[in-house]
Amino acid sequence: MIGLFGGTFDPIHFGHLRSALEVMETLSLEELRFIPAHAPPHRDVPLITPEQRSQMVAVAISEQPGFELDTCELERNGPSYSVDTLRDFRKRYGENTSLMMLLGTDAFAGLPRWHRWTELIRLAHIVVMQRPGGDYNFDTIPEDFLHQHLTDDPAALHHSPAGSILRVPVTQLGISATDIRERLRQGRSVRYLMPQALIETIISLKLYAYD
Ligand code: ATP
Repeated sequence: MIGLFGGTFDPIHFGHLRSALEVMETLSLEELRFIPAHAPPHRDVPLITPEQRSQMVAVAISEQPGFELDTCELERNGPSYSVDTLRDFRKRYGENTSLMMLLGTDAFAGLPRWHRWTELIRLAHIVVMQRPGGDYNFDTIPEDFLHQHLTDDPAALHHSPAGSILRVPVTQLGISATDIRERLRQGRSVRYLMPQALIETIISLKLYAYD
């Protein structure tokens, strides 16, 4: 049973970390992989590279057993399609391993815009973490798709390798990377929004330094 948590992580923050930990506990996951996307960094922060985003993830998760950095998307050329990442995981871990892709409510609502999105559910389960401002009213997702895959039973995810969608309530933390970048741009404090060790790394490597 492996949890896969993809994101831009520009930068990673307590909203990601706390939600991931709660999902790991709720579903008794053995490990949870943080997978930084290769996608180009936010345009107004030209200095942050995918490698630096990965380095920030590594610093942020270093103290939590079971949390691992996975740089598979960075090692591939071109755009980071989740469907390719899940195929890669299937090859690495075989047909029987239960894979669970974690998504915030906002990301889940945008699923039908993803490349070959209907294949995702054949490759993994989807765990939807509720974000502040999001709700469980998934109007953007075709009803028959939800009807076919939604479950309220976590055991369903343990007993099969893929195919179910489970909603997991998490502590509501209205923290976003966009807001953190804006605070850093304005020279304001980001203390208590992310691990202190990460703040120190950002300062010492002069990441998000705009001047
Ligand atoms: P940005 O503000 O730049 O859009 P973000 O904070 O949403 O960034 P991403 O790296 O884009 O961070 O998010 C990766 C995943 O984490 C997505 O599935 C997103 O829904 C989820 N996520 C982000 N912030 C939170 C949060 N505060 N609580 C729960 N899930 C979150």
